[in-house]
Amino acid sequence: MKAKFQGRAEPAVLLRTRPLGEADLIAVLLTADGKREAVAASARRSRKRFVGGLAPGMRGVATLTPGKGTLMRLSSFEPTGDHTPVGRDLTRFAYVAYVCELTDELIGMDVHDPLVFGVVQATLAAIIEHPPQPAALRQFELRLLHALGFLPPLAACCVCRSRVLAGQQTTGVVGFDPLRGGVLCREHRGPGEVLVTSLLHAVALVEGDAAEVLEQVGEASASVRRGLRDLTFGFVRQHLRRPLKSLAFFAQLPRG
Ligand SMILES: [Zn+2]
Repeated sequence: MKAKFQGRAEPAVLLRTRPLGEADLIAVLLTADGKREAVAASARRSRKRFVGGLAPGMRGVATLTPGKGTLMRLSSFEPTGDHTPVGRDLTRFAYVAYVCELTDELIGMDVHDPLVFGVVQATLAAIIEHPPQPAALRQFELRLLHALGFLPPLAACCVCRSRVLAGQQTTGVVGFDPLRGGVLCREHRGPGEVLVTSLLHAVALVEGDAAEVLEQVGEASASVRRGLRDLTFGFVRQHLRRPLKSLAFFAQLPRG
């Protein structure tokens, strides 16, 4: 099957690199066909072949060719977006690091899904080309979970499937426990809860028009945004096998 990739150039996002020997790097890439690992020969020693560098979050066109043994070889990576804003802004750097690390963590080598690739690519474009905002990360978390089939229904009780939002309800709270599967009706709820407004924002972030919803969420009160973050990260946490390094970095950023 390997011959299929011979010399093929395809859109890719660079998720991570790690050293291989003294001169090479192993690059972990996400493409529409899934996650790939490839050797970037001499990338540590010389910047000639990879003129734009190989930084996490870079979007570009990767050319993969058969390499030695089982690993593919990354023969070129041509950036398709300007990555320089990431080096100029710590917040943006942290956002990009988080998107890459979470993607790498949640997506196995066997996931072949153009939808997942589209979500990651669109998120990186949004936070690199525009002022980074937390709502974009919430949207990313929700859409990535949704694309991977990890997101439970947000408007129904995860135990009995009954509707939890009565009619046009937009205020108050509903039961919520990510450990039990998510949103809970009155009968099945425990002490955990989430603001209805936060929940409605989460539904809109999954289904709605990206720009419009991001604006609405950005203007929401601090408690609504906190509720949204607790809700989305509550779901994310269920799928993590280890703490994310990028979250430790986030915690060190000055509060703005
Ligand atoms: Zn129920």
